[in-house]
Amino acid sequence: MSVLIAGSVALDRVKTPKDEHGDLLGGSASYAAIAASFFSPAALVAVVGKDFPEEHVELFKDQNVDLTGLEYTDGETFRWSGEYHEDMNSRDTLDVALNVLEAWEPKIPAELVASTKIAVLANAHPENQHAVIDQLGDNTKLTIADTMDLWITIARDRLDDLLKRIDLLVLNDGEAKQMMETTNLITAGHKLLEMGPRYVIIKKGEHGAMLFGKEKGEFFSTGAFPLHEVFDPTGAGDSFIGGFAGYLASLDRPGDYEFSDLTAAVVRGSIVAGYTCESFSTHKLQALTQEEFDARLAEFRGMTTFS
Ligand code: AMP
Repeated sequence: MSVLIAGSVALDRVKTPKDEHGDLLGGSASYAAIAASFFSPAALVAVVGKDFPEEHVELFKDQNVDLTGLEYTDGETFRWSGEYHEDMNSRDTLDVALNVLEAWEPKIPAELVASTKIAVLANAHPENQHAVIDQLGDNTKLTIADTMDLWITIARDRLDDLLKRIDLLVLNDGEAKQMMETTNLITAGHKLLEMGPRYVIIKKGEHGAMLFGKEKGEFFSTGAFPLHEVFDPTGAGDSFIGGFAGYLASLDRPGDYEFSDLTAAVVRGSIVAGYTCESFSTHKLQALTQEEFDARLAEFRGMTTFS
């Protein structure tokens, strides 16, 4: 069972209080695809310019990410740059050049439509997210969408429409409060469920994530794996959702997923996201081994279980 990830592939410049790097592989779909591929076959649907470095293409291939849905168009690859504040939690966007992303209309090859069981609509304009659902039809078992403050502000109507077409919405705490106009995250989660999706995940950065379901009693909350040092949290949310989807796809479930499958996936996604924070770009994530992951998962289980 495979995961299709549609979203941005970018060249990022990231500045932290201690370090700065440019021309980094970034983009919502890049992180999500590499994270998903740790657990399951994953396919990327995205656009890049002719300037996109071959070394990044090789990296996707090394991670077994299917690239039949990666489109090359004339122009330059999407570029984003951001600077983190001293706390490494909040950041300012310094520059955005949409470039080839501006005119992008996602096109999904027929073989990917047929093989997709979980669709991840990684952060992108809601119009692009709708276009992916239009092409996938009813074949997918679960459709997950991520969003960001920008779309809540400038494309709210299309985002609201999207909520009626997806199974799971994921967004961060600030975005959930902004979107539902409340300071209470539990209220925000329940209000978002009323807008359409069967499930909602609210990410809380270094404080973990909360999962809300529509059925009575469906609520789960977990912390994040405690990290001693964060080098660059860019893409942590994207890695979270990629790991979440990849883990779910690896489960052998003929029918719908149980709520307990989703809670297990939240923890896997959270652990994977931690590795993204431990280096710039995808460097730690791409090098993650099964042994390292299993050890951290076991350590986390010990930290979160009590009598
Ligand atoms: P996150 O840290 O999870 O918010 O994701 C950061 C990644 O999102 C970076 O690698 C950026 O290239 C990418 N990104 C930033 N702004 C946008 C946007 N407007 N649309 C799509 N991707 C974006």
